Amino acid sequence: MEQDFPPGPLAVYLHIPFCLSRCGYCSFFSAPFSIRAKTGYLKLLHREIDLFCNAKPELVWAASIYFGGGTPSLLNPDEVNALCGRFQKAPEAEITLEINPLQITENYLTQLGQTPVNRLSIGVQSLDDADLRYLERRHHSAQIPDKIKLCREFGYVNLSLDLIYGLPGSDQDSLRRNLERFLALNPEHLSAYLLTLDEESALGRKLRHGEAPELPGEDNLAAQYAVLRQTMLDAGYEHYEISNFCRPGRASCHNLAYWTGQPYLGLGAAAAGFLPPRRYTNPASMEAYARQIMQGTFMPHAQICDAEHLRKDYLMMGLRLTDGIDLAEYRERFGCDLADEKNKEITRLSQLGLLELAGTRLRLSSAALFVSNSVIGELL
Ligand code: SF4
Repeated sequence: MEQDFPPGPLAVYLHIPFCLSRCGYCSFFSAPFSIRAKTGYLKLLHREIDLFCNAKPELVWAASIYFGGGTPSLLNPDEVNALCGRFQKAPEAEITLEINPLQITENYLTQLGQTPVNRLSIGVQSLDDADLRYLERRHHSAQIPDKIKLCREFGYVNLSLDLIYGLPGSDQDSLRRNLERFLALNPEHLSAYLLTLDEESALGRKLRHGEAPELPGEDNLAAQYAVLRQTMLDAGYEHYEISNFCRPGRASCHNLAYWTGQPYLGLGAAAAGFLPPRRYTNPASMEAYARQIMQGTFMPHAQICDAEHLRKDYLMMGLRLTDGIDLAEYRERFGCDLADEKNKEITRLSQLGLLELAGTRLRLSSAALFVSNSVIGELL
């Protein structure tokens, strides 16, 4: 297949969809774990890499690799190594593995030390046991400090923790207490997501039938977001993206590729990729994914994005960064001047204190971060 693929190195995402059990709030594509299912899936994944590699060998030049899920730590380190070995890696490539806290053991980390994984993203979600029970997570908060200590002992100096906030009954004080426990673990990075219950999730269905407690109201959630931001800033973290905080220099290189409109390769069932001008999403079904790969198809139903589509994507993603977008770069990419085209909107949103224009950078104000979608929507 003749393709005009972008030059590498690329951000590479590998989706490992297996989970030991289904968390009540989850609506991601995931599949029940078995060794047999995993082995079959890995064969498909390697075959998909072959397909891309045959089309253009440079596509397997990785700037970063991200094992996401599902539960990628259900891969044994040999399997992680075999996948990483398929890519030529840029020097100092960031290689992240999402890991379930319960899978952080001496044995696993010893073996993981033989792989190029250099960043762990740990699904802590909360350090309050009532929250963990509500979220149907299998770990307890008291287990986490020792797990983090173990990671440090094994030399991991770049740890990202996930936090889910905005649970029923939560407020600014409960979030503050939770954050204090997270901060005591001194992570390099924190991803803090507001709980949203998709209708497809078990908790979402219960909520719809009045069998689960209501989520907090908007004002409460906005106040919690303000506490999140201020607490993290006070603790010396950079707030670099709407939901992400880091120690200086520890922003996620992989995710920055998404937010700055760089190309990325998505591999595995339900994975999405962007090889400009194409966007594609693999089927969120094991059977359909297997069929696709066995037929030798990659980038199924890829959408060829026109300039307008690429421009809107760039704005939607770039304005998620607290640094915003560079208007000079925007002009270079799209051949038009945003400040001229959207002059009326930019002026009005700036007067409302929702946008800031600093030099050539246009960014959301801190007041707009919690309502980013509606503000960004006005600029599209
Ligand atoms: S939240 Fe994560 S671990 Fe839980 S079911 Fe969803 S993908 Fe699996």
